[in-house]
Amino acid sequence: MDEITTKIRKIALQNAVEHGGKTQDKIVLAKILASEPQFRSRVKEIMPQILLVVSSVNDLGLEQQRKTIESEFPGLLAEKPKKEEREGLPPLEGAQHGSVVTRFPPEPNGYPHIGHAKAAIIDEEYARMYDGKLVLRFDDTNPEAERLEYYAAIKVGLDWLGIKFDRVKNTSDDIELLYKKSVELLGGNFAYVCTCKQETISANRREMRPCKCSLGQVEQNMERWEKMFSKYKQGDAIVRFRGDIKSENTVMRDPVMLRIIETKHPLLADKYRVWPSYDFAVAVEDSIDGVTHAFRTKEYELRNELYYAILDALKMRKPRVLEFSRLGFEGMPVSKRVLRPLIEEGKVSGYDDPRLPTLEALKRRGIRPEAIRKFVMSLGFTKADTMAPFETLESFNRKIVDSESIRLNMIKNPANIKVVGLPQTITVPNHPTKEMGSRTIQLDEGVYLEQEDLQNIKVGDKIRLMGLGNVSITGLGPQATARYAGDEMTSDIPKIHWVVQKTAQKIKILVPSQLFFGEQFNESSLEELNVFSEPYYSELKDGVEIQFVRFGYCRKDSLLQAIYTHR
Ligand SMILES: [Zn+2]
Repeated sequence: MDEITTKIRKIALQNAVEHGGKTQDKIVLAKILASEPQFRSRVKEIMPQILLVVSSVNDLGLEQQRKTIESEFPGLLAEKPKKEEREGLPPLEGAQHGSVVTRFPPEPNGYPHIGHAKAAIIDEEYARMYDGKLVLRFDDTNPEAERLEYYAAIKVGLDWLGIKFDRVKNTSDDIELLYKKSVELLGGNFAYVCTCKQETISANRREMRPCKCSLGQVEQNMERWEKMFSKYKQGDAIVRFRGDIKSENTVMRDPVMLRIIETKHPLLADKYRVWPSYDFAVAVEDSIDGVTHAFRTKEYELRNELYYAILDALKMRKPRVLEFSRLGFEGMPVSKRVLRPLIEEGKVSGYDDPRLPTLEALKRRGIRPEAIRKFVMSLGFTKADTMAPFETLESFNRKIVDSESIRLNMIKNPANIKVVGLPQTITVPNHPTKEMGSRTIQLDEGVYLEQEDLQNIKVGDKIRLMGLGNVSITGLGPQATARYAGDEMTSDIPKIHWVVQKTAQKIKILVPSQLFFGEQFNESSLEELNVFSEPYYSELKDGVEIQFVRFGYCRKDSLLQAIYTHR
């Protein structure tokens, strides 16, 4: 028993220090049972000990707990806390270990991009940090904007990022419940049905003037509510929350809670025509989904007052809403308003064009999901808007792909050289240090070198063809010549890459660069290089990352095309 009491004390102290000085009996019990499964049948026996220890540990306070750990369990301080890899994220206010619920609520109205990745990663990291749950909720209550293909694209993107959800749902699953809540709002006179014209509503809100509808009795609102399902047409009537028409916060000026949309819903077709607004749906859904901490980007900050007001009116549990900054890249827009015309005009090839920050495009370009996660975590939970340089993401990616990329030779501007005396074949390793196999190259007299490598070479000079050996230059001009001079390593001669002319594989490399400079579309944002690769390129699978020697990392996009990832 003494031994188990010591373990309980150790776990309780550690957990208390990690959670601002307080631990809980349930958590300590769970941890004990996880490490000492033989006590699973003896919970009754150890529970009194746990209660005792937890209460005495909690009484100590954070400072004293730390000191106690130092004196009683110095080993704990040496053990690396698991949280370290999430150091970009500060602790969550009011978070209880084991009961944190976060959610990622994308609207299926477009392809997922780097901004979605940031939100989903932060939601997931926090859920994991506290052993909590993560809900994926498709916020699909605007049939005019939503399409089936976007639900799928978002799911595919999140899977690629490696994000695991404990639950997946749609806001539209709860439409009946949202109607019930609307009736509650109307019945409690927290909302009313407004039949004014859109221009009138806008003008009134601007001028902080209530409309006649807001004076109507509950009975009138109930009658009008019924008519929203039958007589009224789109634009004829909306449900408005009774906020404060004179509020400095424009969001609070009697905002729309439900409206009629007659477009078919991607999942429910024409089953419903009255649809909750974002503000209404998100508040109710977060509350019923058990969300404890709801994150959204900073531009929603003014909507928090409304979020809490709706839940107060409905007497529903209020999650904590927290803001983080939006993430984007300079000159790489994510807005559909900007992207759609570019695609329609053929200026970019589609949502997977390698110049775009969509997840499809980043993947196609050779950016790894682990790099995106590291990048997002490196930015942390800052509130200031982040226009991160793309190079930062590249540097995280480079560290990952470097050890996994096959090294191949590739020539951009070929100069012919005839080399006599070469061996028939050589075998070269696919990676300088990692075990990634090797390939055999059939040699031939005709070799391609980069023109620029030959510029400063004179007859009689020696150069080293990387991986092959040394050659002495015997002639220059349109048809340069050289003689094989053995494989002895010398440090003072130029080391250059090369490709056998006869078997060279002609491929295209797409080199993406910044799409916009300010408002200006960059017409040369996608360069096409026609190059000569080693024939081994054709044996590689689509999607593999290659480092073309002295050029940079590229991802094999298809048989005859690669996309430049970064240097
Ligand atoms: Zn009105």
